[in-house]
Amino acid sequence: MRAGVRVGTAVAIASIAIAGSIGTAGAATGDDAPGLKAAVDKLKQDVTRLENGLRAKGIRTETGNSLLDTGTGSRAGCTPGALLGWADQLNKAMSSQEQRGSGLLGSLAFDYAGSVAKEGPDQKFGTDGQYTEQSTGTMNKLRSFWDIQSKDIQLVPAHGTDLADPAKVTKLFSLVDGAEQAKTDAADVHTVLAKIPELKNGRSPVLTFNAYSAPGPDKRIELGDGILDAAAKFGFGPIGVPVVLAHEYGHQNQFANNYDASGPALEMGADAFSGYFVTHPNGMGFDGAAQGKATELSSSIGDCQDDHGSPQQRSAATRWGEKQYADQQDPKAVRPSAEFITAWKKEFPVLHPDGARKS
Ligand SMILES: [Zn+2]
Repeated sequence: MRAGVRVGTAVAIASIAIAGSIGTAGAATGDDAPGLKAAVDKLKQDVTRLENGLRAKGIRTETGNSLLDTGTGSRAGCTPGALLGWADQLNKAMSSQEQRGSGLLGSLAFDYAGSVAKEGPDQKFGTDGQYTEQSTGTMNKLRSFWDIQSKDIQLVPAHGTDLADPAKVTKLFSLVDGAEQAKTDAADVHTVLAKIPELKNGRSPVLTFNAYSAPGPDKRIELGDGILDAAAKFGFGPIGVPVVLAHEYGHQNQFANNYDASGPALEMGADAFSGYFVTHPNGMGFDGAAQGKATELSSSIGDCQDDHGSPQQRSAATRWGEKQYADQQDPKAVRPSAEFITAWKKEFPVLHPDGARKS
């Protein structure tokens, strides 16, 4: 939860199996497309102007708030989760200028989701719309499961492919620029996208390897195609969307209850909410095997920078949430969100002694 009010998600999927197949291509140098640096410099100016303008209007922005930023660090006794490590490798396979361009474009994809996109029947989730039913179905369950005001929380997608749509990019920049300037901005976006072949015209998961939950007044959850695609790639197919989305909705529970925390307390708390929802029969009703996959997914996006929690801590938080259902006496009852947070506050120092000392 850096850069304002947004909360990076974390959930992710993953196992160890695929990491090796990605290769470990080192950062390329000197073989950038001609003119890439100048194009990225220009885009940087455009994005800075856009995001300053958005912030002046009270709209959140994404720059510098990527889950990928947490993937690089490690410390003794900690290895970043496999899914996070995989995305980090994809990113590092690009040159430094390409990574700059990719970071700016990824910010724009989430800026679009955060300011232009609206929930509605035409919204598709996933690069090819493949997660639409699952996303909207899970969101409906979450809305009726938890006890917070839910109808004003929008669910919107973040598509890397939106960057290849000049009309959408122009609309985004039109929030702060005049019509002619916005068209020029869209051309600048197109230029950078075209000069970085690794981004696959917006289909690369590195662009949208994240999800966000934003508090009011414009409450919304933004689901990036990239993190959902990565989850599916790692074999979490039916598990990925509910676990990620329930984590983000867990942040909405935290906002609604004014839970004042940051970093791992907040993120692992969202994992706990997710674990409870996916286990409860009124939620997803995951069986034991699926619950195990849910904890594995949380682990796979754990980091070693004490940002969202380590792989071990994140899986423990998810498991604790799952156990809250297993241990309750009335199998039909749903815990009030406030009571769940009270219980989590007691548990967090057990699962994360360092974080407890810091906060
Ligand atoms: Zn989160």
